[in-house]
Amino acid sequence: MSTPKTSGKIEVIAFDADDTLWVNEPYFQETEHKFCALLEDFLPHHTVSQELFKTEMENLALYGYGVKGFMLSMIETISKVTENTAGLELVNKTIALGQELLQKPIELLDGVEEVLTKLNGRYRLVLATKGDLLDQERKLVKSGLEHHFHHIEVMSDKKERDYRKLLKHLDCRAENFLMVGNSIKSDVLPVLELGGNAVHVPYHTTWAHEKVSHRIEHPNFLEAENILAVLNMLD
Ligand SMILES: [Mg+2]
Repeated sequence: MSTPKTSGKIEVIAFDADDTLWVNEPYFQETEHKFCALLEDFLPHHTVSQELFKTEMENLALYGYGVKGFMLSMIETISKVTENTAGLELVNKTIALGQELLQKPIELLDGVEEVLTKLNGRYRLVLATKGDLLDQERKLVKSGLEHHFHHIEVMSDKKERDYRKLLKHLDCRAENFLMVGNSIKSDVLPVLELGGNAVHVPYHTTWAHEKVSHRIEHPNFLEAENILAVLNMLD
């Protein structure tokens, strides 16, 4: 069976960063695990975890995505879980966990370097990511991938209107745009909605907030086994 190809003429390829180009979610999970352990005298691990997720969702519209908002949500969770009895020591330990998360090494995923090298020059390559501006900029520098990208967009969200803004900035029509990423919710659905193309490259673990349970069937959508497979989907 031949590999399915993207439809239309692709001019711009945008890559998601976290868990598409480099490891991210496992680091968040590791931090959350340590955070829950800090509070295990008060509530079981999974209950703290649920409480944290609830707090994060309540704060998302105010803080946006990224480590700093995550840190504030962890601190708020301490107050809730301990019913305001926690001392500052727990808060300090939590801040330290967040700072540690901000300084994690960048671990590129397999095939990323090869894919970007092969596509660079043939397409305009863009990095389109959510998260804290400074954190994402620092990660990109550490990744050594910066030179591949024509444009870097750190977006406050990845909804249709955010992609519409990006396309306008790039002066690119939706049908000539391809988004590659690990999140169906953020990297695929809004782009298809606009008339763009999307390739999903699944990662072994996904943040609960980004999970989508239904199957996607769309003429502009392809599922890749890994990022290297994207090369065969392009003409
Ligand atoms: Mg991602």
